[in-house]
Amino acid sequence: MTDMYYEKDANPALIANRRVAVLGFGSQGHAHALNLKDSGVDVIVGLRENSARRDLAAANGLKVATPQEAADWADLTMVLVPDQHQAELYSEAIAPTLQPGDALFFAHGFNIHFGYIKAPTDVDVAMVAPKGPGHLVRRQYQENSGVPALIAVHQDASGSAKQLALSYAHGIGGTRAGVIETTFKDETETDLFGEQVILCGGVDEMIRAAFETLTDAGYAPEMAYFEVLHELKLIVDLLWEGGISWMRYSVSDTAEYGDVTRGPRIVTEDTRAAMREILAEIQSGEFAREWMAESAAGAPILLAARRAVADHPIEAVGKQLRAMMPFLVEKSPENEGI
Ligand code: NAD
Ligand code: MG
Repeated sequence: MTDMYYEKDANPALIANRRVAVLGFGSQGHAHALNLKDSGVDVIVGLRENSARRDLAAANGLKVATPQEAADWADLTMVLVPDQHQAELYSEAIAPTLQPGDALFFAHGFNIHFGYIKAPTDVDVAMVAPKGPGHLVRRQYQENSGVPALIAVHQDASGSAKQLALSYAHGIGGTRAGVIETTFKDETETDLFGEQVILCGGVDEMIRAAFETLTDAGYAPEMAYFEVLHELKLIVDLLWEGGISWMRYSVSDTAEYGDVTRGPRIVTEDTRAAMREILAEIQSGEFAREWMAESAAGAPILLAARRAVADHPIEAVGKQLRAMMPFLVEKSPENEGI
């Protein structure tokens, strides 16, 4: 069994004795900054002068400065801007401020593992990566629960980088659910694999393919939506609560028989071969190079895909159906606020 760390294993004083800069106020940034503040940690948020998020951070009672001012004031800087912009932010705003004994923290190992950021040898480089979206990291903290987290130490200049990372994880609520120590390499590779193969890529593509199969065959889009998207959450909740056996126990015998006989026809040996190929591209750095080049070119593939999904019929029908579910508050970047 992997070692697990919980509340009792962390020393909250370590992070409380630091001045923490959280750079970025997006999904993870707002959650880390607000959770740390509520845990009694001295936090400042670093955002560019023209960032629309400055007002939001200030309205939430946080100190706000430019990324460089924040990193300069801090002795621990957590980098929570998008991965593709971190290297530039590091060389412009963070590197000039680093002092011996400072700590440089990340929530994903991408830039350190693939070598886009190289920190001086006299600072701690560590990771605290919640295994969940930032909005849940905030919400669950407020509900006295927490999202599990991974910690990793890339460079232990102080000799106490791991304890510091654990203390940070405590401050954002991670030790309430459980913290696992890993390496930058393993976190980066498994995280990219999971989001590409199942969590985002696999599931997204499967949903649209199933929706299109049903609607092409003449079934009502509303029925297709309920069947292949809405109900997915109910099934995933069962998996989350009690694993595959509990999900199979809860569905009908008919559904269970369909699962065990038809599932392997959807995820075939070809699919498994594609998974291995995708993993190899991640491990070799090929995916990282491709994504950095895409980003440097202005992210044309990403932007086109965003437009295309917005125009997909599943999005229109979903919006109408969700509007009729009073218990479901429609989520969108516009009305989420943060
Ligand atoms: P995000 O896109 O939600 O937020 C980015 C924030 O950075 C915004 O406040 C934005 O205004 C700011 N920003 C963008 N470019 C900037 C720049 N050049 N200089 C300064 N500020 C800039 O990002 P996110 O999804 O929270 O990701 C942050 C980090 O957390 C990434 O390393 C990501 O891999 C990691 N992570 C994210 C999640 C998640 O739930 N989204 C989960 C685990 C780890
Ligand atoms: Mg500093």
